[in-house]
Amino acid sequence: MYDFVVVGVGPAGARFARRAAEAGYDVLALEKGDVGTPLACSGHVSTDIWSYVPEGDRDRLRQNRVYGANFHVGGPESRAYPFYKTEAVSNVIDRVELDRTLADAARDAGADVREGHTVTAVDEGENSVAVTASVDGDERTVEARMVAGCDGPVSRVRREVGLPDPDETLHGVLAFDESPDDGDFVDVHLTVPRFFAWRIPRGEAGVEYGLAAPPGAEVNDMFDRLTGAYGVETDRFCSGAIPVGPPATVTTDRVFLLGDAAGQTKPFTGGGILYGMTAADHAARAIEPQRPTTLADYERAWRGDLAREIRLGRWVRRAYSLPEPVQRLGLRALSGEIGVHMDRPSSLFSTDQVRALLSRR
Ligand SMILES: Cc1cc2nc3c(=O)[nH]c(=O)nc-3n(C[C@H](O)[C@H](O)[C@H](O)COP(=O)(O)OP(=O)(O)OC[C@H]3O[C@@H](n4cnc5c(N)ncnc54)[C@H](O)[C@@H]3O)c2cc1C
Repeated sequence: MYDFVVVGVGPAGARFARRAAEAGYDVLALEKGDVGTPLACSGHVSTDIWSYVPEGDRDRLRQNRVYGANFHVGGPESRAYPFYKTEAVSNVIDRVELDRTLADAARDAGADVREGHTVTAVDEGENSVAVTASVDGDERTVEARMVAGCDGPVSRVRREVGLPDPDETLHGVLAFDESPDDGDFVDVHLTVPRFFAWRIPRGEAGVEYGLAAPPGAEVNDMFDRLTGAYGVETDRFCSGAIPVGPPATVTTDRVFLLGDAAGQTKPFTGGGILYGMTAADHAARAIEPQRPTTLADYERAWRGDLAREIRLGRWVRRAYSLPEPVQRLGLRALSGEIGVHMDRPSSLFSTDQVRALLSRR
């Protein structure tokens, strides 16, 4: 019997598999397709990402350094309100290669990572969990003391064990223009209902255009309007779900959710790479496969670290729905150099941010 079966080898699953294997546990990680594909993510992350990536891989993964964001209430022709730091705020990374690198790190730590294994059933017993996967049309079942559901926003594990869905799911789309651009700023357009559209310079990899919106919104039409306003043709169109708002519980007796499956994302950007890996580290520290009661320690640990940030992130997101004149007023008042951390809305109240605001006077 395995100590842990990890379902899904995205950032959250790969990170947990690595940490649990490093702790000496017997770990099997199952990925339905090829790790990293299909792409449905911008890979725009704070510089904290590098503490999760082996040092020798960093330059290979980094496509561009970003120093700030130009906010617009309208399209590309509208006034830009810049928010920036003097050092890099974030990096744009090759997301497919990130996933492969994290999966390799899990393998190096001793986890058995298998691709082409689609988990179709999860049956929780008193002393173990049976996990069934489809492999080339055959069904295979393995037993585990615990199962980590790291299978993304539309989680099969979550459904199999009857855990509640995240509060909301947004629909995100993106595509690429090949022209190289190593610009220092991303552009954010508050032109989408309850969310935003973006333009991300990705260095030699070109420029990415994208947006996310609540269900029912005409995302494809809005995307065409965005790229039309920039006057670009894009290709390699990708689409994916973004969960927002973690449910009240992400654990059962022997199963726990991590990453997008648990709704561990930033409500004001939809970003989940770093929150998922942060939660994976809490899980690896707290959970002992022989002691189901330690799942409560995991719930406490990740919520203690991230729940306040997620709550504050929801308040930040409300600003996207304010009337345009109020948005302009707010952006004019707040734009300039900032002292905030892009993953931590609580840093809006930090001494760094107060210092940055005072230094403008
Ligand atoms: C358009 C868009 C842009 C985004 N941009 C950013 C960004 O710039 N920065 C950021 O931080 N986040 C971004 N995100 C969010 C980010 O992609 C997710 O938060 C992140 O991928 C979550 O990681 P995860 O490991 O929880 O899930 P995933 O990365 O979704 O990994 C889940 C894995 O589980 C596998 N799986 C699913 N079902 C099964 C099954 N039944 N059996 C076996 N395997 C299975 C999947 O194939 C997948 O590999 C974006 C999302 C979208 C849609």
